[in-house]
Amino acid sequence: MNFDKPITIALSKGRIFKQSLPLLAHAGIVPADDPETSRKLILDTNHEQVKLVIIRATDVPTYVEYGTADLGVAGKDVLLEHGGEGLYEPVDLKIARCRMMTAGYPDAVKRSGRLTVATKYVKSAQQFFAAKGEQVEIIKLYGSMELAPIVGLADLIVDLVESGNTLKANGLVPLEHISDISSRLVVNKASWKMKHGLVMQLIDAFREAVEQHPS
Ligand code: ATP
Ligand code: MG
Repeated sequence: MNFDKPITIALSKGRIFKQSLPLLAHAGIVPADDPETSRKLILDTNHEQVKLVIIRATDVPTYVEYGTADLGVAGKDVLLEHGGEGLYEPVDLKIARCRMMTAGYPDAVKRSGRLTVATKYVKSAQQFFAAKGEQVEIIKLYGSMELAPIVGLADLIVDLVESGNTLKANGLVPLEHISDISSRLVVNKASWKMKHGLVMQLIDAFREAVEQHPS
């Protein structure tokens, strides 16, 4: 690919960075550093014009919305909470796959009265329970949701589940499926117009990589 214009791609550390590497490689992009060992927040790549910014997963849509990054990789969970304003979401990268679920003690929903739900996914939880016509009280948390039912802060949690081992280790079970989650390529709307040729080449490369390496 010919990177004739500067391009910044926003990624988060951990599973998204690791699972994005083969997709980036397919587009001919190889980072110069590993964010797990480097403290750098801006990573150079094998291309002078291509930079990676390493930020919190929940901040990726914001960086792309404001054009600080032209493109980004963000979980659907994060995009649902952000709302997706100012972004295009052209490719399901099919990485970092898991399910958004309600979870709790096996008898959690049998309890009478209004249920309390602890989650960092407030919007998704609100929509899910509203669609079922259930009145719930939602408590916003920023992590370690599994603790909430154990200490009696909430009856249920809404969280991401992959194997279910974290729930099991805490005596909890997955209860209801809310949505399937995977990471998406997101694109700033101005970059889409102003760097159209390059953005399209990148989108095509990512699409091809997803088809060739189904995870
Ligand atoms: P931090 O750990 O910095 O608080 P985070 O928990 O959002 O942030 P990760 O755990 O790396 O960071 O999650 C990043 C994204 O990966 C999530 O937004 C989600 O889309 C996906 N993800 C999270 N947990 C899982 C999981 N257990 N299995 C697969 N994908 C997951
Ligand atoms: Mg996490």
